[in-house]
Amino acid sequence: LTLGQLLERQASNFGSSAAVVSTRQSTRLTYTELRRLADDVAQGLIALGVQRRDRVGVWAPNSAEWAVLQFAVAKARRGHAGAILVKLNPSMKAAELSYAVNKVGCSTLILAPELKGTSLVGIVESLRDQAPTLRTKVVLGSEAPPGMVSWHQLLAAGESGRQRDELQRRQLNVVPGEAASIQLTSGTTGFPKAAALSHLNILNNALFVGHTLGYTEADRVCLPVPLFHCFGSVMGALACAVHGATAVYPSDCFDAGATLAAVQQERCTSLYGVPAMFIAQLEHPEFHRYDLSSLRTGIMAGAPCPVALMQKVQSQMHLSDITICYGMTETSPVSFQTSTDDPVERRVSTVGRIHPHLEAKVVDPGTNRTLPRGQVGELCVRGYSVMLGYHGDPTATACSIDSEGWMHSGDLAVLDDRGYCSIVGRIKDMVIRGGENLFPREIEEFLHHHPAIADVQVFGVPDARLGEELCAWVRPREGHRHLSSEELQTWCVGRLSHQKIPRYWKLVESYPTTTSGKPQKYKMREAAVQELG
Ligand code: ATP
Ligand code: MG
Repeated sequence: LTLGQLLERQASNFGSSAAVVSTRQSTRLTYTELRRLADDVAQGLIALGVQRRDRVGVWAPNSAEWAVLQFAVAKARRGHAGAILVKLNPSMKAAELSYAVNKVGCSTLILAPELKGTSLVGIVESLRDQAPTLRTKVVLGSEAPPGMVSWHQLLAAGESGRQRDELQRRQLNVVPGEAASIQLTSGTTGFPKAAALSHLNILNNALFVGHTLGYTEADRVCLPVPLFHCFGSVMGALACAVHGATAVYPSDCFDAGATLAAVQQERCTSLYGVPAMFIAQLEHPEFHRYDLSSLRTGIMAGAPCPVALMQKVQSQMHLSDITICYGMTETSPVSFQTSTDDPVERRVSTVGRIHPHLEAKVVDPGTNRTLPRGQVGELCVRGYSVMLGYHGDPTATACSIDSEGWMHSGDLAVLDDRGYCSIVGRIKDMVIRGGENLFPREIEEFLHHHPAIADVQVFGVPDARLGEELCAWVRPREGHRHLSSEELQTWCVGRLSHQKIPRYWKLVESYPTTTSGKPQKYKMREAAVQELG
């Protein structure tokens, strides 16, 4: 199946049920309406000259239009292949945008007019001749400046040239193994990489994710996570479409209050987020005033999910069946997921077992030899969900996917004898202190039990004597701003072995994170190194 075929099928299966709800925009689209809009936009893109395998960039925060575009770009096809959706982070600055657009060679860019007071149109205008491949620019609004096309003009172009039968016929020719999207990685450890993912990659992953959550057309899934990452677009939007469920978008950028309000208003049955998003909702001053009783399941993913946080979310947010997913952009993205069939304790302390039709192994990162169960090493995944490759970068692809098809994750993990996987942390984040390997994840897990700590990040800083020392950035809970390093250190003594107790502590209000809310330790490390002189 391809994205275009899926939408055709769901429009006939679930025509009048809600496909997309944007509470911020007060927009609701049924499956029939979603298909009609996607057809008009696809036809409009073709009218604007979009060719097969053209890269069409979407540079916008979540909106109903974005949800339409994922299908529309896939439907703008000629022959066996066609337009490829490039998902771009709307908080990128001019230089990052031109880097990304040039790296993948976008012919078309569809952008929101502005984001939080910054004019995205202005940024695109400022690029001028720095993006030579860019021919067409579409603004998601009723008006566009000279040289750009408005969303309304695009729709009008599509409607006037409407040839729905022709468009439907074309969907049958499309090959599922062709690239459907180019997905940039989060940029947690450095500059984002551009992963090319096929229809087959992402639709099957969406199918299995939704299957584990037991989705049916009765589900309404609250998606505060961005559509420009797989978490929103594949695990969210596509999992809903594959199972006939409703995708609910509460805000353009994450907002705890808007998320809680959307769950209440739409009686959502499922809620997604990275750990920081759940923390923000639990800490929201009016948290207890929202009715979350419609929730039954959801996903926490994208970064280490502390056990204490999982337990809180289960008991305080009506999410007893919430699952943890582990994955990466390069595997479309999910490879491990917990399920309600798993023992309760495994559902909070591991990332579950390998997804259907995938294989996993743990290797010694030095020798690449497979390690026995129970030993920590690099997690590798193989199967249908492994990306086609990094776009236009065969060298980088060959560094990540070996000759036997294994995707090397860069994450340290351990598989137990029943196949449950625990993520120990990123290889890049491992701290070597006095010759001993320390895993920040384990120390964070422990510190999450401190009653005054809302969130904590642990990382290594260079040390002349020991090679590296541990540094902890602590976000205190409301009313605990007075916490001192001595108090924290004393609390650890006797509870944590001495080499794992951070040497440096800092109280912070927030962390450097990616737009999707993932903590960027390399930035914390840079800042800490500067401060420590
Ligand atoms: P970049 O590759 O650009 O540095 P990134 O790796 O964060 O960024 P993504 O592909 O969005 O980009 O994220 C995948 C990574 O997120 C995984 O390799 C892993 O380190 C982390 N991750 C995802 N889910 C989990 C989880 N449940 N527990 C722990 N870590 C997770
Ligand atoms: Mg990565």
